[in-house]
Amino acid sequence: MNWNFDNSYSRLSDVFKEHIEPIAVKNPELVLMNKDLVEELNLDFSKIDKNVLAALFTGNILPEGSNAIAQAYAGHQFGHFTMLGDGRAVLIGEHLTKNNERYDIQFKGSGKTAFSRNGDGRAALGPMLREYIISEAMHHLNIPSTRSLAVAKTGEEIMRETPLQGAILTRVASSHIRVGTFQYVAARNKKDELEILLNYVIKRHYPKLINSNNKALDLLNVLIDKQIDLVVNWMRVGFIHGVMNTDNMTISGETIDYGPCAFMDTYDPKTVFSSIDKMGRYAYCNQPAITKWNLSRFAECLIPFIDQDENKAVKSATEIIETFGKKYEEKWLKMMRTKLGLLGEDNKDKFLIVDLLTWMHQNKADYTNTFCHLMNLKDYDDELYKDDNFQKWKKNWLERLKLNNNTQENYTKLMRSVNPLVIPRNHKIENALEKANDSNLKPFNKLLEILKAPYELQENISDYLKMDTSFKDYKTFCGT
Ligand code: AMP
Ligand code: MG
Repeated sequence: MNWNFDNSYSRLSDVFKEHIEPIAVKNPELVLMNKDLVEELNLDFSKIDKNVLAALFTGNILPEGSNAIAQAYAGHQFGHFTMLGDGRAVLIGEHLTKNNERYDIQFKGSGKTAFSRNGDGRAALGPMLREYIISEAMHHLNIPSTRSLAVAKTGEEIMRETPLQGAILTRVASSHIRVGTFQYVAARNKKDELEILLNYVIKRHYPKLINSNNKALDLLNVLIDKQIDLVVNWMRVGFIHGVMNTDNMTISGETIDYGPCAFMDTYDPKTVFSSIDKMGRYAYCNQPAITKWNLSRFAECLIPFIDQDENKAVKSATEIIETFGKKYEEKWLKMMRTKLGLLGEDNKDKFLIVDLLTWMHQNKADYTNTFCHLMNLKDYDDELYKDDNFQKWKKNWLERLKLNNNTQENYTKLMRSVNPLVIPRNHKIENALEKANDSNLKPFNKLLEILKAPYELQENISDYLKMDTSFKDYKTFCGT
């Protein structure tokens, strides 16, 4: 095994983590391994026996150079502050690729840690496979995301409402440092500890800021941009994260924690899938506002480094946080223009976009497929688009396209680069998981293959392209 570990986080003081020995599992069995990602990480498991791989991806064998830790963090969960930490995850180490890119290798569902509170530290097969397929789908949609390297069954039952098969996901991330990591350290009220974290993050993720005059302020600025880019991407494809607590927001700008997330079918800005999100805090349309709220919590942690005078520091941080609205609006508008193939800027563009979204909402149109219809793709025709109001809107859109002063080929190419032709439809995910639970991975692997090429026309996949109306009231669960 050619792991190349260099565990910088575990060298930080014990404030930030607990060392841990992963608990051996009873009967490891490899379910899936992501061969593309294995290669991208410059790993080579080709000569390794399947049983050894199963032992590896359940933590029964720890690779040389690894050093398992559970990371400490806190977080605002649905607005309430709590001390948390890796309650069912262990970071086995940081692997360096040939190009010196650093990736956390983490097991999720590998047993109790010092941060488990009342949990059992375990995870079930269904939710781990769900994270695997959705995180990989996000990656192939060109959206920054943690990745999934493997899923292995533990051969143990875990108790939820019913007994379920235990499993471990190997998650790969450019780091697992969260807004909540800063909140954890800030809550301890020791400036020197916070400074260690700040410098560590800058060195690891934003080395351009090493010589900055005000690292904290610059980091805040950079993270605002990163997180806006991320949420704009989510809005682009209709992704609803579902549990945007501050502990589930990374400092790297990658999507993390695929619990109750799902993709919107019918366009409705208030869409919520998570069964516990009764107030719709994390609804589709609230995601930008929550991103800003989370960034404000991040800014609070940085106050001691922004200015020695606390009032001045708060003022500077507030000013930066208040740039969020305008920046978001600009980036969202740019993204929506691209979805509609609009080149240049016309001051009526926003109305044109909002008119389409309003029509989609009123007519219960499918978000993904409406853009596919506008790209003139077969398979996406629907009686719905004969509607007079849609046709009127389309006329205005075609008028606006004339202002592009460019060929149809060019603007269609642009549209094709941002409008997915296929998304992980809820019924397909559920069906794949149900079959996988009975050891039939065929539907799962087929869906995974299709989701690897979301912008390409694929033959014979028409039943992957439409929502199943019996999933109209689909609900998701945190899957703990
Ligand atoms: P999440 O909702 O997955 O973001 O998790 C929130 C917190 O609960 C984190 O600190 C997790 O580590 C912890 N947690 C979730 N599930 C379990 C579990 N089965 N056992 C122990 N801790 C858990
Ligand atoms: Mg989490």
